[in-house]
Amino acid sequence: DISGTFTLNNGVEMPYLGLGVYQSKNGQEVANAVYWALKMGYRHIDTAAIYRNEDGVGQGIKISNVPREDVFVVSKVWNSDQGYDSTLRAFEKSLERLQMDYLDLYLVHWPVAEKYKDTWRALEELYRQKNVRAIGVSNFLRHQLEDLMESAKIIPMVNQMEFHPHLVQQDLIDFCQKHQIQYEAWSPLMQGNIFDLREFHHLANTYNKSIAQIVLRYNLQKGIVTIPKSANRERIISNADVFDFELSKLDVDYLDSMDRNHRFGPDPENFEWSY
Ligand code: NAD
Repeated sequence: DISGTFTLNNGVEMPYLGLGVYQSKNGQEVANAVYWALKMGYRHIDTAAIYRNEDGVGQGIKISNVPREDVFVVSKVWNSDQGYDSTLRAFEKSLERLQMDYLDLYLVHWPVAEKYKDTWRALEELYRQKNVRAIGVSNFLRHQLEDLMESAKIIPMVNQMEFHPHLVQQDLIDFCQKHQIQYEAWSPLMQGNIFDLREFHHLANTYNKSIAQIVLRYNLQKGIVTIPKSANRERIISNADVFDFELSKLDVDYLDSMDRNHRFGPDPENFEWSY
């Protein structure tokens, strides 16, 4: 069910379905989205400093009356804040905006080449100080993970990547699994582009579920944490209605076979860092 979790390599339980809030407006819009999600059973919210809506996320959690310790709250250090000291400061500011005294998961948002190792040392320190229950990365390809792990004292607990049927990156999933790095999907709905594709309509009809539900269920059956974004109450509710059916192995393989290595977001290999 919606409160189900995957267990991270340090034993922390991470709810496998969360609410993404990228492009949800700070203030009422994001606070409402978080409130509705928590009211209907979500226990995991994915934000980032660069989304500029951490204040609203904090408000939404507060007004839901769900106890802080029952919600898995994730944020990320932005590229321009990378480096040891600046990451520690950025973390403090995120906590202030969220009005919290700890995070459940803090991620390195992108692998800024000359800096991500110093950034990681700061996350290790935050983890040791128990300011955060788990630490991880986002948008790290295999060579970047290998490079980081060479000097890391703590293996990342999570790698949050763009993932959907047109960008599977199975090699990276396998690598992460081998190292007990939990794989997590961003843009699981292809930023909304999934709804235009004919092959998904067919699957939706077969299972009598929505296209979003088919694709999110596919994430979970592959053992991947997923965080669909919506600020619309009905969609927030229906995106979590994925626990009353199961895709056949054949259909999971079919969705995998749609892979065309196509990104809707930036390429971690050559993302422009400077904004
Ligand atoms: P998504 O794939 O979740 O798609 C969101 C879009 O689909 C929105 O336009 C929404 O209105 C629409 N939508 C959602 N549910 C729908 C439904 N049931 N029916 C019809 N339309 C629906 O895209 P995303 O927001 O890019 O990704 C999800 C989350 O992942 C983000 O909110 C953010 O938290 C995270 N993310 C992380 C990174 C990163 O670099 N780590 C990058 C992008 C996003």
